[in-house]
Amino acid sequence: MPDSSNSTSTVGVFDKLSLPLDGDSAEQTEVGNYFVANYPPFSFWAPEYKSAVMDVLDGPAANDTNLGVYFHIPFCRKRCHFCYFRVYTDKNASEINDYLEAGIREFEAYAKKPYLAGRKPQFVYFGGGTPSYLSVKQLQSLTDRMKDLFPWDETEEVAFECEPGTLTEKKLEALKEIGVTRLSLGIEAFDDHLLEVNGRAHRSKEAYRALDFAKTLGFDQVNIDLIAGMMDETEDNWKKCVDTAIEQDPDCVTIYQMEIPYNTTIYRDMKESGRISAPVATWPTKRAWVDWAFNRFEEAGYTVSSAYTVVKNPETTKFVYRDSLWEGADLLSAGVASFGHFGGVHYQNQADVDPYNEMVNSGKLPIFRSYATSPEERFVREFVLQLKLGRTSMRYFQDKYGVDVSTHYAAELGKLEDDGYFSKDGDDIVVRRDGMLQIDRLLHGFFLEEHLDARYT
Ligand code: SF4
Repeated sequence: MPDSSNSTSTVGVFDKLSLPLDGDSAEQTEVGNYFVANYPPFSFWAPEYKSAVMDVLDGPAANDTNLGVYFHIPFCRKRCHFCYFRVYTDKNASEINDYLEAGIREFEAYAKKPYLAGRKPQFVYFGGGTPSYLSVKQLQSLTDRMKDLFPWDETEEVAFECEPGTLTEKKLEALKEIGVTRLSLGIEAFDDHLLEVNGRAHRSKEAYRALDFAKTLGFDQVNIDLIAGMMDETEDNWKKCVDTAIEQDPDCVTIYQMEIPYNTTIYRDMKESGRISAPVATWPTKRAWVDWAFNRFEEAGYTVSSAYTVVKNPETTKFVYRDSLWEGADLLSAGVASFGHFGGVHYQNQADVDPYNEMVNSGKLPIFRSYATSPEERFVREFVLQLKLGRTSMRYFQDKYGVDVSTHYAAELGKLEDDGYFSKDGDDIVVRRDGMLQIDRLLHGFFLEEHLDARYT
């Protein structure tokens, strides 16, 4: 339903906004997920395909495939207004301990599977939610037990997501001690008004303090996450935020453009007030802001290393989890709602803590839905994900999948070249800056016909 009140309607989370709520028009940020996190889209995964993943797990070990281990911590201090994850803000220490126990039981069940026998993770990732919400004691116990089941002595990267307000010097020391190499700080913005109106739990003071602690501890990589186009963001604000991030001298900065998926507080309030567009910057504005940020970071010596990241030193700042996953590594993913895959079969766990705990405690793997990909779907998956890096080799797909990308996608690539989004450089497909700024929208054009218009939920 269009916004008949035309800019004056305010409700719930919109009450504290200082900018006026714009009317709806083309290019406004409407509700929906554009971000291509995986392929095929999640709406094609289904409970009836669960046996496919069990078949892989009961088959021979895949010693020639890299393995990643992921654990999902679904707890947060407060729910951000733009958050679309299933997170819990009301669990006590005992409930969190029960969840961690269930997670270990899940890892134990996987460790007995022939497909994983003797395999050691190349990378480990703690995501959420807020992994840094756990106490030092919980973190030490969890990681010790994970290491007993899947040793980390051959692990090249241990990535850990943090909410700045949950970090103390003691907790950061514990993370270093545990073996975390990539510390990712969900700072999102350095302006306290923006943090407040978007529902973040932390404030800038906590972000600066966490950055200071982290620098003294010498993590291999400290990453700052930023969001372009949060509610009430202005151009001036955004530029200050980027300059502040540069002053903080992180190894890497990840920038996402704000989107409004269906299960967010912002969407709920849009629905209640009858709006069809969110009170955030338009897509062209967000693209212009990210373009400005990329240029500014380049002037400061950073290199754009994907559609979302800039790195200070491309030689030393590696993304093992990203690059490995985008080249088809296996991912043992544990915890509520987590996404993993083995041997080309995707799976997702139960999305709520209670059924998750119940299934694990009754000796079952807590898988909710699954999808066995065809070779063609695996090719499309790797192709679209690798395009997010801004450059991909056609030879790679010829050698791995026997697909000549230039003829297979002749029409799509030709159109993107004509529009100035893509170009070719010898054997490489290059995504130009204009293409990088809207890569997720463009990637849908490479999907198989049956997956066009699918939702990422
Ligand atoms: S910190 Fe992250 S996971 Fe937690 S509520 Fe905010 S956006 Fe969601």
